[in-house]
Amino acid sequence: MSDNQLIEQTQCYLRMALPMMSRHRVPITPRNYDVWYQYVSGCNHELSGAIDAFRNKGEAFTEEVNENLYRKYCAEISEGAAQRLREDLKNMLTNVVEEFAAMTGKAEKYNSVLTGSIAKLSDDLSAETIKVVLDDILDETKKISGHGLEMQRRLQQTTAELENIQKEFERAKMEASVDFLTGAANRKTFNENLERLAGEAVRTSEPLSLLLLDIDHFKKFNDEHGHLVGDEVLKFVAKIIKEHVRGQDLIARYGGEEFVVLLPSTPLGGAKILAEKIRRFFDHATLKTMDQSKTLGRITLCIGVAGYRPEEKLSDFVGRADKALYLAKNNGRNKVVAEVDIQ
Ligand code: GH3
Ligand code: MG
Ligand code: MG
Repeated sequence: MSDNQLIEQTQCYLRMALPMMSRHRVPITPRNYDVWYQYVSGCNHELSGAIDAFRNKGEAFTEEVNENLYRKYCAEISEGAAQRLREDLKNMLTNVVEEFAAMTGKAEKYNSVLTGSIAKLSDDLSAETIKVVLDDILDETKKISGHGLEMQRRLQQTTAELENIQKEFERAKMEASVDFLTGAANRKTFNENLERLAGEAVRTSEPLSLLLLDIDHFKKFNDEHGHLVGDEVLKFVAKIIKEHVRGQDLIARYGGEEFVVLLPSTPLGGAKILAEKIRRFFDHATLKTMDQSKTLGRITLCIGVAGYRPEEKLSDFVGRADKALYLAKNNGRNKVVAEVDIQ
């Protein structure tokens, strides 16, 4: 196969793999790309069998499944998954850009954009970087739009293609930051925001508070009503918490049936009042099945509340909320405990 054919084939696999990953909500990370690239290229039979089995069963490609697929079927035979995604994208973009340069006779100008933009892909493969690179190329491509009909047609086609890739990356980025079931932020996003908001609290001398919420006896609820109903309840809890907080607050799923809320510009007293409101809402609510036909009873929750002490370790801050939550559980559940109540 000639170099050109090889590049063309790679691009074809790239175009097949990205939408497929997106459809199965698989974040576009280098490792996952490696897995799905090998899947669409059909070069790894065991891997193809495993993915087909998952797809046939309609099972979700969770973070754990993705990691296992990579470890089990790809890790040993692939050197440098990040390298591959980077190279494939580079090749695809280079090709597109070169084609245009040739058609418009503006090779020099276009080449400088290309070199500048694509060089950014060398060190960093985050969704943001890829977006910046694609934006640059799209802008430039639009600017040098030619006159002829054929030129217009190619431009539209290429623009659509680049925009699609961009959308895939944006979706991948979004999916990598939220919890699949509840739509709340995930743990990784929580950690990033905790660091950012703690920094802001120090800079602005504004208070920052945190709620750690855990549903009481949720195992028992699942045992009685089934996991699927339990999942609906988790979605409902996330929705209600969201309705109780402000736009600047961040709600994340911390673990199975645990949520965490970061409250910027909120002193401990205010956070405790809010926690009490949320606790009371559930205490008074009767849950029903989706079709309203059956009453599921009530769930209660415990909430631990802590206030950030400037410059302290973030793990100490979360640790105090966790300790307060533990006390709420030990005091009979359906309770709010703030760190001030402990000392
Ligand atoms: P406690 O009052 O002490 O918090 O009791 P608990 O049963 O809520 O706590 P435990 O940690 O023993 O069990 C948590 C349960 O939450 C286990 C599991 O059944 C349930 N759970 C965790 N993640 C999910 C999920 O994604 N969906 C559903 N339906 N249930 C989940
Ligand atoms: Mg728990
Ligand atoms: Mg619990």
